[in-house]
Amino acid sequence: MLNNYGEVINDASLKEYNTYRIDTKCKYLIKVTNVSNLVELINYLNDNNIKYLVLGKGSNVILPDTPFNGAVISLEKLNKITIEGNKVICEAGVNLVELVNKVINHNLSGLEYLGGIPGTLGGALYGNAGVKEHCIYDHILSVDVIRCGKLITLDKKDIIYSYRNSMFKDQKDLIISGTFLLKKELDNQELLQIIKEERLKRQNTQPLEYPNAGSVFKNPVNNYAGKLIEECQLKGYNINDAYVSLKHANFIINKGHATSKDIKELISYIQDKVYKEKNILLELEQIIIDWD
Ligand SMILES: Cc1cc2nc3c(=O)[nH]c(=O)nc-3n(C[C@H](O)[C@H](O)[C@H](O)COP(=O)(O)OP(=O)(O)OC[C@H]3O[C@@H](n4cnc5c(N)ncnc54)[C@H](O)[C@@H]3O)c2cc1C
Repeated sequence: MLNNYGEVINDASLKEYNTYRIDTKCKYLIKVTNVSNLVELINYLNDNNIKYLVLGKGSNVILPDTPFNGAVISLEKLNKITIEGNKVICEAGVNLVELVNKVINHNLSGLEYLGGIPGTLGGALYGNAGVKEHCIYDHILSVDVIRCGKLITLDKKDIIYSYRNSMFKDQKDLIISGTFLLKKELDNQELLQIIKEERLKRQNTQPLEYPNAGSVFKNPVNNYAGKLIEECQLKGYNINDAYVSLKHANFIINKGHATSKDIKELISYIQDKVYKEKNILLELEQIIIDWD
């Protein structure tokens, strides 16, 4: 039945579906093929009390070690980008890197600073991904979602978002696509230069050679989580194979077989130490997934 909606893999490994490479499993991994199948699939899962989780690239999540007795929905086949003048309609499964490369080829600016974020548009809209003062909502016109089994369009004015947060974290909406209005301000060479510099900065400052899920904590107001963690002498601290990166203290890296438990214990340890020494409670940017 489930394969009416897309490709289904039973008892699937999720190791390649999360960037920490946590070795966990789900009962069904479903790669939906189009939006109407997705609407029907959600209704089917709800009607049959089958739990589900939508995953993009898994680059902002800490999945549980225990297997999921439900369905993980991958939107990797919802990967269409349509460009009409300055308007760009992008499906939720599109990788941000790919979206940014494509709009730049059309000399469209507004998204270039986000071109190094390794997630999908769906994940970016969910968590309001961004870099410094730039964020995914800067040039958004509207977002299409499935809400209560129906496809609806939300205008930007109806969407609440803030630093690494959006109303989608509190809602059960499933993000289908986003429509952007971009600008023709910079030429192709200028845009390519920005991207090149952004990617170089990442290579120099982030431990991209190890599995990780980006910044672990949000930056506190007027401060930096990485600086606070470093000042607490935590660089290199580890629990089994989960390490605080030596390159960037706000990154936890998996040096081999780190489990979800190792990563979560390390997070608690960092939070306790920073709280004791700095009186600041670090708030998680990464999302701890609980199958229950
Ligand atoms: C090396 C590295 C660097 C990073 N740099 C940055 C950075 O500079 N800025 C930044 O903001 N982030 C950064 N991140 C974090 C991450 O890439 C972003 O948060 C990204 O937007 C997450 O997208 P994703 O597709 O991987 O989401 P996932 O991790 O797959 O999912 C995140 C959450 O979104 C939900 N979700 C995903 N898709 C949908 C959908 N279609 N509808 C509803 N819910 C959905 C999931 O259920 C989950 O709760 C970095 C990560 C890494 C590994």
